[in-house]
Amino acid sequence: MTVPDQQAVAPQGVEAQYRQALDQGRFLIQHCAGCNRAVFYPRMICPHCGADKLAWTEPDGRGEVYSTTVVRRKPEAGGDYNVALIDLQEGVRLMSRVEGVAPDAVHIGMAVRAQVAQQDGRGLLIFRPNQEAQ
Ligand SMILES: [Zn+2]
Repeated sequence: MTVPDQQAVAPQGVEAQYRQALDQGRFLIQHCAGCNRAVFYPRMICPHCGADKLAWTEPDGRGEVYSTTVVRRKPEAGGDYNVALIDLQEGVRLMSRVEGVAPDAVHIGMAVRAQVAQQDGRGLLIFRPNQEAQ
């Protein structure tokens, strides 16, 4: 019996491509040529219209906090941190965290900007308050 090896069939899945770009300091989302809408999380097929015409695009980076939570953590474990749902200007919502401000100072509607941080040699998507928009 042979079991199809997913890795062999698709060594470069869309998620791997997304991660690879992040590791290189670039934040990419997808854009669908079929319905002209932005797509995130990375997929093979557009969730809006079902087309497979997805292309990578670099978003503007500006967004707004949709919801925010403070995750409590002991100081020796790194202290409290923020987890937020961010609405990008392009119309997609994603989960990330807001840094550069106290975790409980993040508020709904806050203007933020995407940034790719480096953590343990990997790219990590975070957001910071967008000063220009305050
Ligand atoms: Zn589409």
